[in-house]
Amino acid sequence: MERKKFNTVSLVRKKRDGEELTRDELHFLIDRYAKDQIPDYQMSAFLMAAFLNGLNEQEASVLTESMLHSGKVLDLSDIPGKKVDKHSTGGVGDKLSLILAPIVASCGVAVPMISGRGLGHTGGTLDKLESITGFTVDITLDRYREILRKHSMVMAGQTEDIAPADKRLYALRDVTATVESIPLIAGSIMSKKLAEGIDALVLDVKYGSGAFMKTKDDALKLAQTLVSIGEHFGKETIAYLTNMEQPLGYKIGNWLEVEESLDALRGEGPDDVMEITYLLSGTMIYLGRKVSSIEDGIAQSKNAVENGQAFEKWMQLVDEQGGDTRFLEHPGGYPRAKHQFEFKAQQSGYLHSLDAYKFGMASLELGAGRHSKEDTIDYTAGIVIQKKKGEFVKSGETIATGYTNNKENVEMAEQLLRDACSIKDHKPENTKLISHKVDKKGIHAFSIE
Ligand code: URA
Repeated sequence: MERKKFNTVSLVRKKRDGEELTRDELHFLIDRYAKDQIPDYQMSAFLMAAFLNGLNEQEASVLTESMLHSGKVLDLSDIPGKKVDKHSTGGVGDKLSLILAPIVASCGVAVPMISGRGLGHTGGTLDKLESITGFTVDITLDRYREILRKHSMVMAGQTEDIAPADKRLYALRDVTATVESIPLIAGSIMSKKLAEGIDALVLDVKYGSGAFMKTKDDALKLAQTLVSIGEHFGKETIAYLTNMEQPLGYKIGNWLEVEESLDALRGEGPDDVMEITYLLSGTMIYLGRKVSSIEDGIAQSKNAVENGQAFEKWMQLVDEQGGDTRFLEHPGGYPRAKHQFEFKAQQSGYLHSLDAYKFGMASLELGAGRHSKEDTIDYTAGIVIQKKKGEFVKSGETIATGYTNNKENVEMAEQLLRDACSIKDHKPENTKLISHKVDKKGIHAFSIE
């Protein structure tokens, strides 16, 4: 496409001075940067100006569009039915994709899922999938389409063809302290999701210590921006705000989370994991037009777990993508970490906090995450929590067990867990797990039933 030409310095100055950039101006910047015709130092200056002065809804949508069209946009219209995906803004112990994708696919809604790797203290779906021996996430777009058609679901990594401008920009944001900007995050997430060829999207926007957004207000702003971009592109988009103060479920770490997702698909998942999973899967089934309400979608999801169809779907998909299903049927056969340690309560009382960020960092230190892109992951490393917020613990009782193949990691992880947990003599207040729903009509305090 022929684009108008602009002077890059003038555009940086305009954003520096808090002015709105036009559609043509933003397209110029992203397009030229993606083609290596604008140097990193000018783009860095623009990103910092955008970080400090913000981008309005129109600018955020144009930014998304430019990044989206920097690569391939999949057309899945030849695959029957609505295609619906879910995206989470990232948390600790968040294995929901592994549970809800087979639930939704087994209910007849196609789930084309392109996921990411772990980032800092947060886990990533791709790393969890790769902990299943043989499972491959590096597939061509033709194979992606073939698997989706056959199984109504596919789980893959971002290829070079998907939103390459975002890939370059994200790497630059990472080293210029410009990641934590709501419109830049929203544009980055949505350009990749829209490229998947979806018809609708459900978003799990997390807030709290273990999330990107530390406060509910920021999470609400991010949710609104994401929904407004989705709707701008004609995709029905619903977001939920969920609490990430403490880890989700009981297991953190790649294979450990696969194990917990298997329990969930067998109907034995932890309450917090299942509450959010069923809400998101129910919403996806509703957006896929298989039921007339989210409540009916939730009921269908529960049914798919109870009658075993979701587990069966998961086994088929893992087998199709090269994974060894014997470990899914008999998780006890999977190799165990060589070392384990018990993290114990130093006093009796009620657990007031299990800080999700610190648990995520402890798991990373044990080998479940990466300090730098080049690090390799120890799939067996991680943490199994025995007691969660609000429970009573006796002095000397185990709160969590750590697993690692490198004994040298234990001291640092134990220190992080000590800092993460607080115990008091009275019960803590209950916190809501799901606080808001955001859709095209606005923000709603969350309630269902
Ligand atoms: N995840 C993304 O994909 N992009 C961001 O900018 C932040 C989180």
